[in-house]
Amino acid sequence: MVGSRVTVPFGRQTLVATVIAHPESTSVPDKKIRYIKEIIDSEPLLPEALFKLITFASQYYQHPIGEVFSSCLPGLLNQGAKAQLEPEWIWTITKQGEQALDSLRKNAVKQRQLLTLCLNNNGVFTEQFLSLNDLIPSNLKTLVDKGWLVKEEVKSVSPPQVDINANSSELVLNDEQKDAIDAIAPHLGSFQGFLLDGITGSGKTEVYLQLMHLVLAREEQVLMLVPEIGLTPQTLKRLQRRFNVEVAMLHSGLTDKQRLNIWLKAREGLISIIVGTRSALFTPLAKPGLIIVDEEHDLSYKQQEGFRYSARDLALVRARYEKTPIILGSATPSMESLHNVQQDKLLALKLSKRAGDASPPHIKVLDVRQRYLNQGLSQPLIDNMRQHLSKGQQCLLFLNRRGFAPTLMCHECGWIADCERCDRHMTYHQHFKRMHCHHCDKQHFIPKACPQCQSPQLNPVGLGTERLEHVLSELFPDKVVMRIDRDSTRRKDAMKNYIKAIRNDEVDILVGTQMLAKGHHFPNLSLVGVIDTDGCLFSADFRATERTAQLLTQVAGRAGRSKDVKGEVVIQSHHPDHPLLVNLFTQDYQTLSEKILAERREGDFPPFTAMAIFRAEASQLQLPMTFLNEVKQRLNDTGLTVFGPFPAPMTKRAGKMRAQLIVQHQQRKVLQSRLSPITPGLDQLASGRKVRWSLDIDPQEV
Ligand code: ADP
Ligand code: ZN
Ligand code: ZN
Repeated sequence: MVGSRVTVPFGRQTLVATVIAHPESTSVPDKKIRYIKEIIDSEPLLPEALFKLITFASQYYQHPIGEVFSSCLPGLLNQGAKAQLEPEWIWTITKQGEQALDSLRKNAVKQRQLLTLCLNNNGVFTEQFLSLNDLIPSNLKTLVDKGWLVKEEVKSVSPPQVDINANSSELVLNDEQKDAIDAIAPHLGSFQGFLLDGITGSGKTEVYLQLMHLVLAREEQVLMLVPEIGLTPQTLKRLQRRFNVEVAMLHSGLTDKQRLNIWLKAREGLISIIVGTRSALFTPLAKPGLIIVDEEHDLSYKQQEGFRYSARDLALVRARYEKTPIILGSATPSMESLHNVQQDKLLALKLSKRAGDASPPHIKVLDVRQRYLNQGLSQPLIDNMRQHLSKGQQCLLFLNRRGFAPTLMCHECGWIADCERCDRHMTYHQHFKRMHCHHCDKQHFIPKACPQCQSPQLNPVGLGTERLEHVLSELFPDKVVMRIDRDSTRRKDAMKNYIKAIRNDEVDILVGTQMLAKGHHFPNLSLVGVIDTDGCLFSADFRATERTAQLLTQVAGRAGRSKDVKGEVVIQSHHPDHPLLVNLFTQDYQTLSEKILAERREGDFPPFTAMAIFRAEASQLQLPMTFLNEVKQRLNDTGLTVFGPFPAPMTKRAGKMRAQLIVQHQQRKVLQSRLSPITPGLDQLASGRKVRWSLDIDPQEV
């Protein structure tokens, strides 16, 4: 049956595949055809709309459909697991359990905690409650053995509860929030795209929540996508506190079994709200009612390797197939979405004021030309920090460069620690005592002497978050400094604990990369300092201005998010007159985005043209160049505009030499239809077999 999984022999292996059609005849030669060995699903695995979405995605991104299916399905289903719900367990406290609480020995701390927790939760533990409280079923084993808890299978999983209001604590909406809801609500049950364009802290989340309420009342499901690092347990808690329905969160920390169970329950309609990152877009829904893409401009929605899809763009397609409204939310909308508004493909809704009583932060650009910088910090910024700290408020210093210093240099001969496999420096990490290339992940020990002149005088050059953390600890010895970047948050739950500490006011000064720029709400944070913008202002990528504007606006938005705390933002720059900085802070993101859009139109860049990039790499640059030149020849007479091939901006990466060919056309459909007959044959080219190549449709990085 179309949509069912089957197994097929393939060489010595047996593979899992999905039936996509029953053609009467085929051009595939007989001896290449394999027969189905076994049928796994007696029913189609996916709801029709999702099946259609995957088929569409395969065509649109010109990626083999088998690979698209396997990247959209949970791992266990790819391995042939039955699409059946595993039993779910519930633990109930017994009479003995309640009595045991009074007679427990003093040192039975853990048992007392568990029993109390259970009693406070009406005497039951559900699996979901356990995972929310960082517990696992085996923690309860002793209590079960003692007869204090009974473990039972949840037989009939109850459908979403109708009494969705039970825990409700809705805020009174301001006029703009109300207008947004009034605009969207009439479209429930049909397709319509919205752009919720609201400054940071304007209460977008509250709008989502109150709309979810309406959707749940219709007994429909909500799918909410969030960026990779914005995904916090707080989001889940906030939803669970608000609604008395089942909420699930899809994130990288789940086991395969948990992931499959959520997938299956969502398909049965047993989960009402699904929150997740990029790939959660492919969660099947029995009764879809609303799709939300929060922080829609975020780069993490684009998969950058293999099946290179944009979850935001596919979410729009899915909403159309599912006949549901979709909301793209952002304080800094992407040029693509703003363009879609201009073309009436999305309806724009604005939230222009901070919600509650919080007022927008005061922003100033600090000219640091000719000023003395103490490891990147100017005196006015340090003074500013002192003022805020003395009032018991928190400061955030933003520096988008992890490690201690961007590289090491020899004081005698000028040698610089470059990565031998990339066109980049090796970053100096003091804490890990290593040199690390952030592009190919190569690591080695810190050299004791210069490899060129043997001098021991190797000095770190430049400033990374680790160094900034040191400097701040010295400048403010009685304050608690915390660094948040990818290095400091490697351990499981580290981020969660950091966020808790910040919100509990156990931290005074935060040093962070873009991990801290997004989504977080720290009520007592009043000063944001941006240490180094100059690196972002000059870049070859036509998207650089957009990205920098988004990043700076988002970082600035962390300051002063509650009513008692006045926010202030200080941006250090050697180019205070740079148009981007001037526009961003004398006007606003909207004015700037209009300028950026005008430039894009002028230069014939996306979103005013559709773009695709062929990328290729091999050990020598000449191989990808030859291949791409042949691709270019095949594109002759297609009417497509072709640029290149040229070496990629970072030509050498991980030991490979890379080149690219840019292809454009005003119309997406034309680009699509002219490329699709060409790509399948490229692997047959002699030059195509000597390189690794890929096609990136709607690339986000050039
Ligand atoms: P955003 O998602 O736009 O950044 P949030 O929805 O997180 O903003 O809201 C920011 C803060 O304002 C939160 O603390 C939230 O509880 C509060 N808030 C939102 N809407 C209202 C409202 N109508 N009245 C009072 N406070 C509000
Ligand atoms: Zn040297
Ligand atoms: Zn490298």
